[in-house]
Amino acid sequence: MSWKQNGIKHDSKNNRVRLSKGANHKEYPKAWEYILVEYETRPNVTIENLQQVRAVYDQQKGRWELHLVCKDEIETPDAPGNETAGVDLGICKFAAVADSTEEADLYPGNRLKQDGYYFPKEIATCDDSGGDEATRLHHKWSERRTHFFHSLAKHIVQRCVKNGVGRINVGDLEGVREDENGESKNWGKHGNLDLHGWAFDRFTKILTYKAKVEGIEVVAVSEHCTSKTCCACGKKDDSQRVERGLYVCENCDAAFNADVNGAENIRLDLNQSNSESSARLDQDRSTGWLAQPSVYLHDRSRGFQPRSAVVDCKP
Ligand SMILES: [Zn+2]
Repeated sequence: MSWKQNGIKHDSKNNRVRLSKGANHKEYPKAWEYILVEYETRPNVTIENLQQVRAVYDQQKGRWELHLVCKDEIETPDAPGNETAGVDLGICKFAAVADSTEEADLYPGNRLKQDGYYFPKEIATCDDSGGDEATRLHHKWSERRTHFFHSLAKHIVQRCVKNGVGRINVGDLEGVREDENGESKNWGKHGNLDLHGWAFDRFTKILTYKAKVEGIEVVAVSEHCTSKTCCACGKKDDSQRVERGLYVCENCDAAFNADVNGAENIRLDLNQSNSESSARLDQDRSTGWLAQPSVYLHDRSRGFQPRSAVVDCKP
């Protein structure tokens, strides 16, 4: 249940919100036509520019809560630099990031994958699939996904700040939704993250917001052929088969991590004629970093950790 601005009257002096019960929002409604709510906030929180009020039932606490949605203007700082980073989102590895400092990061989305196995199994054991327990599990699963998206977006934005990035190119997700023949992708395929297009849209929104706070712009660019083109020499190979996660180019004899190759092509905005990509043949770039990205796994208490550190902690 939610109230829009015309159903809300905010009394900021007395910390009260008056919520209309009906469709006719009179200036002075009678007492039974509204709900009067008194609220308390944490010390540093002020309620202003109230946009919406939502009534949400909290399963765990067994009570109703009101969520007050306020509009908050943020000042956008100057961009940390002029570099561009490329982010490739995918259904096997959640995200790959490349930037011009010759650093590549890979986020396999291990946590999403584990949850994708765990929760459906748990939900299936619930007696009544529409019951409270199943609802609670769905809710928990979605909360954990949201948490993952937020920490990943934060991790990517922090690395961009460190590397002087002012713009993040994100693939437009056509490859996430459809396979080469334009058919919807087979989501049930073993080993895939159990995610649909909406999850990537949601992640992109979170990334866009977190980047904006740091003065970084997020731009959707075409990911057409980004997985079939060699990011070093620009040669497109339709018969390219990715083997064990490697992109092998017959033209320049290079072997790259396939996800990083995609991210680098997105960074170069392959499909934009005036981009860096036209100049790539002249450049004598080092390419070793394209084969060996840093791999980050998500640890629920410590956030993203380099893979080796996570392995070291195991008993
Ligand atoms: Zn090549």
